[in-house]
Amino acid sequence: MKKIIIANWKMNPASAKEAENILNGIKKTAVKLKKTQAVICPPFIYFENSRKIIGETANLFLGAQNSFWQNEGAFTGETSPEMIKNSGGSYVILGHSERRALGETDEMVARKTSFCLKMGLKTVVCVGEKVRDEQGDYLVFLRDELRASLNKIQKKFLKNLIIAYEPIWAIGKKDADAMPPSDIHGTAIYIKKILSEIYGRENASSAPILYGGSAGKENAGEIIKNGGVDGLLVGHQSLNPEIFSEMLISAENI
Ligand code: PEP
Repeated sequence: MKKIIIANWKMNPASAKEAENILNGIKKTAVKLKKTQAVICPPFIYFENSRKIIGETANLFLGAQNSFWQNEGAFTGETSPEMIKNSGGSYVILGHSERRALGETDEMVARKTSFCLKMGLKTVVCVGEKVRDEQGDYLVFLRDELRASLNKIQKKFLKNLIIAYEPIWAIGKKDADAMPPSDIHGTAIYIKKILSEIYGRENASSAPILYGGSAGKENAGEIIKNGGVDGLLVGHQSLNPEIFSEMLISAENI
């Protein structure tokens, strides 16, 4: 399986020109990738231009940061999976903690997840605890969040499911503040166990697990190598094309 490194630009950058410069910088490295897939998730407003820049680059893909659970209708401000696909997107991030903090519920994430998978998008569902307590309550939280966010998926669409484990307490900090790879490894195994409980071992074992939370050039290689994950979801550091390119190279060299 190729490693998957996803850039979540969030509500950045401020102008189309800056977006273009960042993507052009990343593309210089992405054209050389063989064992790694880079996925750029810009704000929708930069989608069309990003699609043109990506062109036919083999291992560089376009993704959305959110989607609605229907394809058309009176849903002001929403964007549908069909629109994402028609605009060149093949990935979508759902249930990011920043969206959940704005009021998105597990039920909404579940509806979006099931519909985006049905529409054939590679669907990245984010889960992660707010705090890692000594008693292990975070494990119960993670299990419940996974079950509730995935409860509407039909087994036949599971092949495009990707889980991004993002401990909220580790998001948006420095490389040294990321979760230690050994802890990531333990949690990735736990997530696989929960997926197997829901869907059966054969069906769930192929879902890639990504880590997100202060991943940067200092820790990218180690997290992938020793963290037992298939790639990374990268926030603020993906806006720096040099740093993000170094992360792609680290993944490629594993
Ligand atoms: C994120 O918010 O998805 C994320 C991983 O952010 P950061 O890399 O900035 O911690």
